Amino acid sequence: WGPGQRGSLNEGPQGWQDVGGLSEVQAVMRETLELPSKYPKLVAMAPLRLRTGLLLYGPPGCGKTHIVAAAVAACNMRCISVKGPEVLNKYIGASEAAVRDLFRRASAAAPCVLFFDEFDAIAPQRGHDSTGVTDRVVNQLLTELDGVEGLTGVIVIGATSRPDLLDAALLRPGRLDRLLMCPFPTAYERAAIIKALARNVPFHGEVDLETIGRTADGFTGADLSALLSEAQLAAVHGVLDQADQPSAQTPAISQQHLDQALRLSRP
Ligand code: ATP
Repeated sequence: WGPGQRGSLNEGPQGWQDVGGLSEVQAVMRETLELPSKYPKLVAMAPLRLRTGLLLYGPPGCGKTHIVAAAVAACNMRCISVKGPEVLNKYIGASEAAVRDLFRRASAAAPCVLFFDEFDAIAPQRGHDSTGVTDRVVNQLLTELDGVEGLTGVIVIGATSRPDLLDAALLRPGRLDRLLMCPFPTAYERAAIIKALARNVPFHGEVDLETIGRTADGFTGADLSALLSEAQLAAVHGVLDQADQPSAQTPAISQQHLDQALRLSRP
């Protein structure tokens, strides 16, 4: 991941300002990532082991992937990001070697985050896979995670919406031992999320994002992002309906577009 471009709904997060809510998760991630990236020498000399593994868990769309991208951007770290199923599919018959290679690459790129999204796909409880593939991958992960202690500046983060499926050995001390829940946002957090998502979005006149966020009961961050896209689409239609030269106008979102999007959207 690297810094994206500003000014659209589709770009990745640029830093903590793009995350709404999740304040406890943010605090732990700051502590875990900022120390090795800002003070690598100090961390290398620390006699005690610092935290090197985190597991983010919670329902889909509640910001697990988003907050990792924001943290990496904020700390100016490199990140190797891989989805669990990719490790199994892309490297058929060589999944353990792929895991080993990912850790080697992360070490060479330090300070670096090695991020496993959809972690449950490669880290299920051992003994339930008749082919033995995921058992071997889990064993490899255990070996590599134990080795991470000796690697300066490598932080391993897993994300899953099914923590119950994971092999418990992966969560033991020294491995992914700090569990961070990303829950459904409260009304207050929804308001913060929609404001964060709308940071670079052009608006027409006064809009009340706070009320939209608070009213959107049951919405996740992903749902709020979809709601804003819906409003953006309404703004595009507004320009097309009115202008002689549609391409010359920026489709800015008005309060009416937001209200309409909220009526049409479902969590
Ligand atoms: P999954 O389990 O399906 O991978 P996830 O928890 O990783 O879900 P994300 O991919 O991080 O969910 O969230 C989807 C989108 O929702 C993000 O790209 C972002 O636009 C928005 N989003 C979710 N949570 C937040 C948040 N706390 N602050 C700002 N945006 C958020």
